[in-house]
Amino acid sequence: TAEMAELVSNADIALYSAKSRGKSIAVEFQSEMTAEAQRRARIEAELRKALEQDGLDIVYQPQFDCLSGRLLGAEALVRWTHPTEGPILPAEFVPIAENSDLIVALGRWVLWRACRDAANWNAGTNAGVHVAVNISARQLRTEGFTDEVCTALKKSGLPASLLELELTESQLMSNMSVGIQAMQELRAAGVRLSLDDFGTGYSSLSYLQSFPVHSIKIDRSFICPLPNGGQPIVTAIISMAHSFGLLVVAEGVEYPAQLEWLCDARCDVVQGFLTGRPMRLEQLLAIIRAEEEQKDTRSRTPVAPRPHRVPTA
Ligand code: C2E
Ligand code: MG
Ligand code: MG
Repeated sequence: TAEMAELVSNADIALYSAKSRGKSIAVEFQSEMTAEAQRRARIEAELRKALEQDGLDIVYQPQFDCLSGRLLGAEALVRWTHPTEGPILPAEFVPIAENSDLIVALGRWVLWRACRDAANWNAGTNAGVHVAVNISARQLRTEGFTDEVCTALKKSGLPASLLELELTESQLMSNMSVGIQAMQELRAAGVRLSLDDFGTGYSSLSYLQSFPVHSIKIDRSFICPLPNGGQPIVTAIISMAHSFGLLVVAEGVEYPAQLEWLCDARCDVVQGFLTGRPMRLEQLLAIIRAEEEQKDTRSRTPVAPRPHRVPTA
């Protein structure tokens, strides 16, 4: 029966590998997979510990209005520095957390911290700089998720309109009806919703119509070839989203020529290394303060919209 247990365990490992490669794929067990599975199990245990011991962090990446260059909001991105391995990317540990209930606890921690931070950065200003939080499908499907969001808003004092939740289409597809119901509840509570990594899933017209979102974020893979390639698809996405009354955010803008092309193409919001890397809260606060000062001078002496800042870091 030790053999039996091993067989089941190996099958499970191969299943994980198959799942991480997509749907309808068969994967044969390879012995190297055991080492990967052990690493995943270790990462999961250590991440759980980090979460309990307040060992995680959030960085914020600014989002700017294409027309005015104004700061509109910031996306909260979780960070983890492992005690011996150093920084581990969300691309590695978020999928591991998503494979268990750990993502629910992790997501809850990010949500509460992000609401608190955004309530603070909006205190004493009327700029209304929103915070965007990534929500995993498992979290969205948790019983009482909307109540939890409302409690986090109330306890932090952040207005619902300044919270945006980012969902991905592929995750919503796994259980459409539950997902859409939760989205409708959140929308009714005044929270904004956006469709992250847009274009990488099925992105069919009927989904755009049935998901009650306010905005879509065009995936970085479509922004990357701009401005010399890939224009037709981005033009089409922007015009399609606009005809549904949705705002368009471009992710992963790295070069001035991309920014210029996107602004000309009527993209609404940009987020990327060009306009601001994910940064510590203090750095974001400095940008918010600078915007406030700009606004003060602007109200006295009208000036043309300021061009996007190019990061110094
Ligand atoms: P995402 O939500 O699509 O976040 C955007 C990712 O693109 C971030 O990676 C960001 O650092 C990166 N990025 C932004 N601008 C640029 C650019 O100009 N060039 C390039 N090359 N990359 C850019 P990050 O922080 O490593 O996060 C990766 C993913 O992990 C996120 O993708 C999101 O799906 C997930 N994630 C991060 N934090 C959380 C969280 O708190 N909860 C959940 N459920 N997922 C999270
Ligand atoms: Mg996101
Ligand atoms: Mg994305």
